[in-house]
Amino acid sequence: MRSWAEPVVPRLPGLGDLPALHDTSTGTVHPTEVDGSSAGLYVCGITPYDATHLGHASTYLAFDTLLRVWRDAGVEVVYAQNTTDVDDPLLERATATGVDWRELADGQTDLFRSDMQHLAVVPPTHYVAVTEVVTDVADAVARLLDRGLAYPVPTDASSAGDDLYFDVRAAERDTDWHLGLESRYDADTMARFFAERGGDPDRPGKRDPLDPLLWRAARDDEPSWPTTLGAGRPGWHIECTVIAQQHLDVPITVNGGGSDLVFPHHEMSTAHGTALTGRPYAVHHTHTGMVGYQGEKMSKSLGNLVKVSELVAAGHDPRAVRLALLAHHYRADWEWFDAELAAAEQRLGRWVAWAATSDGGAVAATAPTPLVVGLRSSLADDLDTPSALDAVDAVVSRGTAPSEVDVDAVQALLGIDLRA
Ligand code: ZN
Repeated sequence: MRSWAEPVVPRLPGLGDLPALHDTSTGTVHPTEVDGSSAGLYVCGITPYDATHLGHASTYLAFDTLLRVWRDAGVEVVYAQNTTDVDDPLLERATATGVDWRELADGQTDLFRSDMQHLAVVPPTHYVAVTEVVTDVADAVARLLDRGLAYPVPTDASSAGDDLYFDVRAAERDTDWHLGLESRYDADTMARFFAERGGDPDRPGKRDPLDPLLWRAARDDEPSWPTTLGAGRPGWHIECTVIAQQHLDVPITVNGGGSDLVFPHHEMSTAHGTALTGRPYAVHHTHTGMVGYQGEKMSKSLGNLVKVSELVAAGHDPRAVRLALLAHHYRADWEWFDAELAAAEQRLGRWVAWAATSDGGAVAATAPTPLVVGLRSSLADDLDTPSALDAVDAVVSRGTAPSEVDVDAVQALLGIDLRA
């Protein structure tokens, strides 16, 4: 599937350090273990039924920062992202609003692309819609069935066949994966999140309440595709496993997303991936904090969304939106206040004025400037963007004219083009 336009990312003198990154499965920050000089990054994409809110944008900016820091360290990054363009919430929204589900998905995916482009997010190497990989998912589920790790659950009379579920207890017996491997959650927490986040613990016929859906057999009023499993459509977790393993080496260097994906989504993607390859799914499991608004987590279900597209349409500079988000550490849970955007616009104004005093390249730096060194140091430390912004502020407030390399560094590492 088409992604979006690549922003300009200037090359800086010298090489940055390999970043250290928090890993959910160990609870520690440790250096990213790249394989030779290449890294594979998978970040879960949107379900396209509502435009990009600041929580989404914050997550994609975190992994955009990782990608930029890796590239600056000389790492070749292969980045894959899905879009869940067929799923229950999308279909429910389409029905509720009387819009064809494909039109809804296409329109919202376009809006997402436009938001990412406005925010100067480097696009994924492989941007893949679930509807593009239905056959591949069916083949993967068939392999899990063959291995005794999946089983049918009967459906009602209107369906074309059985739904298929993943057997978590069998996977714990027969693979190196176990419940809690990634999330480190206790049983009560897993049960609660499974029920809250799209799971169906009480469905009759399941062997374990936490067994996740792999394949949903066709229903009369739902889209479906003919496959070797019969007509149906993919479950949520297996779609990411299949897309990630099609495009990235296993184990994936970093599997990322918002912290609300830790369980069950990433735990189960990891389970499926381990079962399919016999190898660990990812080296690092990295998660971003939740963004709140008006006292609650920003979410589609609550409707308290601040959307990138609306801020841009209201005339706000997308660079200021980016700066406002980067002012928070990616792992923190934080609340958006409208005043943050005004503060970011003032900061951007100071930075742009500073960049305009550059002597136009008379300082031909071939070695990293102190600002480059400072930015690299902050960002290599678990993507500490607040410290990186402080480092730029400190240089700007001194009032010394920047070199071109300094202005390039802000663009390359923070994604803010001060010459625009
Ligand atoms: Zn995913």
